[in-house]
Amino acid sequence: MPFASPFPLLDLPKVDILTYLFPPGQQVSTKPLWIDSRDTSLSLSPAQLLQWVKRLSYGLGRTGLKKGDVVMIYTPNHIFVPVAYLGIVGAGYAFSGANPIYTLPGKFRFPEMVHQIKNTETQIILAHPTMVKTAVAAAEKAGLAKRRIYQFSDTECETLDGVKDWRAMIGSLSQGDEYSWPKLSPDEAVNTVATINYSSGTTGLPKGVCVSHYNLIANIEQTIFIRDHKKPYTRETRPPERWIGFLPLYHAYGQLYTILMAIKLQVPVYVMKQFVYGEFLQAIQDFKITHLQIAPPILVMLSKRPETAKYDLSSVTDVLCGAAPLSKELQNDCSRRFKMQINQGWGMTEVTCGAIHVPGGVNDDSGSVGQLDPNTECMLLDDDGKEVATGEPGEMYIRGPQVCLRYWKNDVATKESISEDKWLRTGDVAVCDDRGYFWIVDRKKELIKVNALQVAPAELEAVLLEHEHIADAAVVGITLHNEEWPRAYVAIQEASKGKVTPGDIEEWIKSRVAKHKHLVGGVTFVDEVPKLASGKIQRKTMREWSKADAKVL
Ligand code: AMP
Repeated sequence: MPFASPFPLLDLPKVDILTYLFPPGQQVSTKPLWIDSRDTSLSLSPAQLLQWVKRLSYGLGRTGLKKGDVVMIYTPNHIFVPVAYLGIVGAGYAFSGANPIYTLPGKFRFPEMVHQIKNTETQIILAHPTMVKTAVAAAEKAGLAKRRIYQFSDTECETLDGVKDWRAMIGSLSQGDEYSWPKLSPDEAVNTVATINYSSGTTGLPKGVCVSHYNLIANIEQTIFIRDHKKPYTRETRPPERWIGFLPLYHAYGQLYTILMAIKLQVPVYVMKQFVYGEFLQAIQDFKITHLQIAPPILVMLSKRPETAKYDLSSVTDVLCGAAPLSKELQNDCSRRFKMQINQGWGMTEVTCGAIHVPGGVNDDSGSVGQLDPNTECMLLDDDGKEVATGEPGEMYIRGPQVCLRYWKNDVATKESISEDKWLRTGDVAVCDDRGYFWIVDRKKELIKVNALQVAPAELEAVLLEHEHIADAAVVGITLHNEEWPRAYVAIQEASKGKVTPGDIEEWIKSRVAKHKHLVGGVTFVDEVPKLASGKIQRKTMREWSKADAKVL
């Protein structure tokens, strides 16, 4: 029997995201909700957001976009990103966010960005002024006309390199103000793609994860329910909160909290354009931030960096930590020292954002990632596909209204990951106790998480195989001092032996991929990369090699 959520079933609205966030007849707040953390005079209220959302949706429509077309944003965080997100999604287009670190000096530039534009068949790019040059070059490589790129920022931009400000799409602003978004039927809400974030899933290259309007709404409702479950207040009497928006907005975690939950819960968010640790601490102190949504590397910084002690962090009461493994020692040490309740949650881009959380108000010190969100089920399967007993490890399969629709234009990958009856294969290994609490104990899939960001071994292997001296290569994660890094096992061409060093390979990779994908875990030369008869890399053996190497490095 699958594990079921211990919580009551929620009734989840099947409407479009804008109707859910701004229900007819409900007054829209004019209080600042997104505030620039460096310049608090820059802010947006929900009412202002809605006005800009309508203008953007109207403008996008005037460019000839069709329902379901993909609009990419390529920008660091700023207070207008929520406008882009909702202006695109609300109008019935699909939002795709590119990582702003997808830029490289030299010859081999932005391959990831080109892949994403081509793969999604992006029709329009909204690029931050600082990224216009890269956007233009990447679009050219991907075959997207320059006139399909617009600048998008928190202020109006001068035309740059022939790229206009996005307001040029609108014609007159007042026409935009008249716009009314398309209302989706229940069936359409379930099936219309809202966002396409990128994830490599359990295997292969990064793929577009199609998340619907209904997926988003379900995950907002589930997360709010479990977050506030045992808290001594209701939605109406909840004490004021203040958040800080530093999680990247091209990732599901940032989108759920900084954009969607902030509106639903009416929590002001101080948006950081760039993550600088000292500024992050300063902002917590200055704005008396109450809740943090973070990933484990932030706890490592809190615990280890001496400047932490210079700031007053006492306003923070609750911390949600997810997106990568966290040791219970670090969690408990930080909880004690900073007097914050740090609870974990487990998620994956393919479950919109989250599916398991320690309920709010529960003080967990066991390292658990929590209980199943409402309306969510889980199976833990052994290598033979049989359900394991309570307390035994098994690969997690998740079913619920937050499980994505499919991978974008990739039926093979969809079939490998989502069964006919909608069970999502996660590639994570967990145990569950008899109270329904889960612990993540291993990862079966190829994915490597660096700084909580995804690194797909297949992507690095493809780049390595382009090297003239490399005959074969496999990339695997190695955990050193609680942090995970990519490590490559490389077979050199017979005739090339002695001509190249592991250091050369590391340097070579550095010039071709974004920083978090660098081979910080090292390069080792091997005679042969172990393969199955099918030609697939024996990932299990590779993981054993890296575990053994981690002991001696
Ligand atoms: P992403 O799709 O980028 O959110 O990455 C999802 C993956 O991150 C999961 O499949 C896990 O491998 C890992 N992950 C997320 N949350 C946790 C957690 N709380 N503990 C351990 N691993 C996690």
